[in-house]
Amino acid sequence: MLSAARNCCFDDKNMPATRLPYLLRQLRNAALKGANISIPKQCLLCAQAILTASADHLCPHCRLALPFNLNPCRHCALPLASSEERTSICAQCLTKPLANRAVAPLVHRQGAAFLVHRMKFYRAEPEARALATMVATQIRLTEMSRLPNVLVPVPIAYTTAVQRTFNQSALLAWHLAKTFNIAYAPRLLMRQSGPAQRSLSRDQRLASSGFACHQNAANLAGKHVAIVDDVLTTGATARKISQLLRGLGADLIDVWCATRTPTEDN
Ligand SMILES: [Zn+2]
Ligand SMILES: [Zn+2]
Repeated sequence: MLSAARNCCFDDKNMPATRLPYLLRQLRNAALKGANISIPKQCLLCAQAILTASADHLCPHCRLALPFNLNPCRHCALPLASSEERTSICAQCLTKPLANRAVAPLVHRQGAAFLVHRMKFYRAEPEARALATMVATQIRLTEMSRLPNVLVPVPIAYTTAVQRTFNQSALLAWHLAKTFNIAYAPRLLMRQSGPAQRSLSRDQRLASSGFACHQNAANLAGKHVAIVDDVLTTGATARKISQLLRGLGADLIDVWCATRTPTEDN
């Protein structure tokens, strides 16, 4: 029964039938709080009750079933094939590394893609916290000796912000900045209006510009900066933002993302 429910939830186009929409859940929780009644939290993927507290809001079964990025390229987080296991750098990054360090704890498929989809299109705060918790765990495991000074979320276009009312990358960056006590700079960059990146082909993404610094952007001379995004796909966005940050004086640039697409064509 558990696996059937989980498989159903992994389709990122559909919300789990057993879960209440976000607003209804908020109202229900507020009502229960007022009545001093507590109920177990639900797993974000299978909607089963979680009996022990967990920062990621997942049951042990769904957490274990997540597609973890077990062997990523250290510069672009691309999942490497087992034959490349000892290199830890992909072919492209050997000559043109995407970033100083790239962190993406999950591969963008199944439950991981579902969590990102919920965060992005339903403004789902528990999903954002769950993904931020997974990024934070990965940071604690591998990056604690080289934490950046500033976190810069990938900006979204003004029209997108009006429609969606929030920026999912800024939400992730805010959680991570709070967790590691790092400066958070959501207004350093801006995105010009244009088609969403996901609607463009790889070549179009590479060709489109779309980002600029704010007039009063802070000087980043000598700073170690991490770009924060929800999904890392081609790396085109990270490269463009890196150029702008270098123009502001940034010294080292990392990329922190929740998920990484398994190939650059996705
Ligand atoms: Zn579950
Ligand atoms: Zn790479």
